[in-house]
Amino acid sequence: MDNIHKKNLFGMSKAEIEEIVKKNNWQAYRAEQIYGWVYQGIGQIDAMSNLPGHIREELKQQYDIFHLQIIEKFEEKKTKTTKYLLRTEDDLLIEAVLLRYKHGNSLCISSQAGCNMACVFCASAIGGLQRNLSAAEMLSQVYVTEEDTGKKISNVVMMGSGEPLDNYENTIGFLELVSDKNTRNLSKRNITVSTCGIADKIVLLADSGAGVNLSVSLHSPFQEQREKIMPVARKFSLKELMEACRYYAEKTKRRITLEYALISGVNDTPEHALALAQLTKTLHCLVNLIPMNEASRPSLKGSGEKNVAAFAEILTKRQITVTIRRTLGSSINAACGQLRSGFYKGD
Ligand code: SAH
Repeated sequence: MDNIHKKNLFGMSKAEIEEIVKKNNWQAYRAEQIYGWVYQGIGQIDAMSNLPGHIREELKQQYDIFHLQIIEKFEEKKTKTTKYLLRTEDDLLIEAVLLRYKHGNSLCISSQAGCNMACVFCASAIGGLQRNLSAAEMLSQVYVTEEDTGKKISNVVMMGSGEPLDNYENTIGFLELVSDKNTRNLSKRNITVSTCGIADKIVLLADSGAGVNLSVSLHSPFQEQREKIMPVARKFSLKELMEACRYYAEKTKRRITLEYALISGVNDTPEHALALAQLTKTLHCLVNLIPMNEASRPSLKGSGEKNVAAFAEILTKRQITVTIRRTLGSSINAACGQLRSGFYKGD
């Protein structure tokens, strides 16, 4: 039987599974059992051992449990980073990066195959958007990497390929699924949504009550320059973006992280640091500086260590909280979208 025509049980809510059980006139408690199996780990209908054979057979007529498939795995031993290249049912490639910290395993997941945002420094932009990932495909990244390592994921960051707020409904669906006590029971405080600055959706996310951490990719404190390096800024101005950030911080009582990739000679001058300090001084935020990873865009260069330190100092002197991100996984091209684009090139 052709799997493509079967519906995926993985990704369904309890109510949807109850509906299937009702439609088939099975006893109501079967829903609980099926739901338990679907989210217990990576399973198959055949393994649902407390269901009678006829129910399993009937289920299999129309449903299956699909997960992403691990195509390749790249390990960077020094930093304990593993990058997974994963394949969807319709043969698209996406990636997820597992970072092992002392406090637990953190997984960076993709929200789209490709991306429509076209930021000039980012590898995910190459080739544009292929399609949105479903909530189940986002959750599957957690399941397949957990299965592979045998260890639970304690943090999820939506910083892989794609723009989560350009796939808003499925992102919300994923946040609900992954934090459900019957699935992964992940605390919203351990989940971060990262956006290039879709201001109206930031407001929506604040109002949704999702309560997750928010990261905003800023990369320049100047409207004109931001438009050049991040086309999304033409649609949502810096002013609108900062207002949305303020709204999010106030509504959720959470500190926002502003991501700032330092590109040599482009956005790493003292003027930039001063303007950034000015822009952020009244926002409840942390500025995360990341030397730009060059592997994806050789025409741009990441700032050197000294420049990064000088930039950070200007901010800290003005009471802005700053962190400098370790460039984890650069030897395995673990920056956003790089693995996937390298793979397509090699085809
Ligand atoms: N679309 C979302 C999430 C994906 S990108 C967003 O824009 O936030 C995750 C982070 O990696 C973003 O801050 C993005 O700007 C940054 N990034 C992309 N390419 C990079 C590169 N080559 N070097 C450093 N950071 C990069």
